[in-house]
Amino acid sequence: MSEKFDLAVVGAGILGLATALAGVRRGLRVVVLDRDAQANGASVRNFGFITVSGQERGAMWARARRSRDVWSEVTRAAGIPVLQSGLWVTARRPEAVAVIEAFMATDMSEGCSVLTPAEARRRCPQLVAPDLAAVMMSTLELRVESRLAIPRLAAWLAESHGVRFMRNTTVHGIEVPTLHTSNGRILAERIAVCPGDEFTALYAERLKRFRLTRCKLQMLRLADPGFELPASLMSDLGLARYAGYAALGPAAALKARLAREQPGHLQHGVHLIVVQGADGSLVVGDSHHYAATPDPFGCEELDALILEEFHAALGITPPPVLERWIGTYASASDKAAFIDAPEAGVRLAMVTSGAGASTGFAMGEEVVAGLFDAETTR
Ligand SMILES: Cc1cc2nc3c(=O)[nH]c(=O)nc-3n(C[C@H](O)[C@H](O)[C@H](O)COP(=O)(O)OP(=O)(O)OC[C@H]3O[C@@H](n4cnc5c(N)ncnc54)[C@H](O)[C@@H]3O)c2cc1C
Repeated sequence: MSEKFDLAVVGAGILGLATALAGVRRGLRVVVLDRDAQANGASVRNFGFITVSGQERGAMWARARRSRDVWSEVTRAAGIPVLQSGLWVTARRPEAVAVIEAFMATDMSEGCSVLTPAEARRRCPQLVAPDLAAVMMSTLELRVESRLAIPRLAAWLAESHGVRFMRNTTVHGIEVPTLHTSNGRILAERIAVCPGDEFTALYAERLKRFRLTRCKLQMLRLADPGFELPASLMSDLGLARYAGYAALGPAAALKARLAREQPGHLQHGVHLIVVQGADGSLVVGDSHHYAATPDPFGCEELDALILEEFHAALGITPPPVLERWIGTYASASDKAAFIDAPEAGVRLAMVTSGAGASTGFAMGEEVVAGLFDAETTR
């Protein structure tokens, strides 16, 4: 291809697509290259849960708020259905209620309120957990069906914004302005590398400094329970895991109690997210295991732990399992995301905390700003 692009993006996951969007919004000619024939990474294996409350205070929370706004614009423009709005964090233990109260006292609780068990049951009589103590209700979240949303987002970028997609195309080397690919050379003024959890291909030496590993998650799809959830759901375990809640003082007591009462859940990083699709089915997860190359096998014991928490939090018998899958994402113990400049004219972007659907659009804008605004770092 002799045509020269303004911006080449390696990777067609949410980060790559978000970067492409930020590029075309500036009037740039953009090409996106991906080794796979269709989206197959974390971006289509996730819950499609765009979270704001619970994100780590600071940059990630700000990125989540910005990304949620861009998702609102893009879903309308691209015809991507928003299947759920908001989040209910159900609390069963007094220690979990204390975390909710502490969260409500912070500036991050904007858009959130607390429901008593009676108010919660009035809004959703089918949620019958006997020990429900409170619900933190957030209006900030959105939910899309990722396996439909990501391909539709890519198609919209191609059709409405002229983004060129080259699939089945591995990028195996970069010498700005040239990308060496399995389909020949591509020329681009600037290059964004959004490789997901691929650490050993492009800039492998550079990536070593981030001490990356992979996180493996188990996921389930359950049959329609026969009623509409009021919002996406989380439970006590989420209050002890998500940084925006878990960093609050009262979370220590909750973690200590969970360690006594649910050691298996903590050991396997199991916490509960329940989201609902257009057909009523529920996507439920998840677990967290860390390894350079996690094994690809689903473990029944972990599914049982996830479903046990589902039963406890919702008070209903889990509907039949329709699908099971695993996903992996990039993980770093000391940072939630980074944008690196491995050489002039290149940015390397990675979300290393399992929050790319929630923060990707803001990251994409930052990548493009870094490439096209900051003269000195080109
Ligand atoms: C099970 C699961 C549940 C999750 N739930 C949520 C959630 O509810 N909310 C949330 O915010 N986040 C969630 N996440 C995290 C989120 O999905 C990720 O942070 C996000 O998808 C990462 O996007 P990405 O574009 O960086 O990576 P990916 O989606 O992995 O895309 C990277 C792409 O780069 C391509 N690529 C890599 N190297 C090359 C190369 N050299 N040449 C060509 N192509 C290349 C790959 O083929 C791939 O398509 C979840 C993740 C998982 C696995």
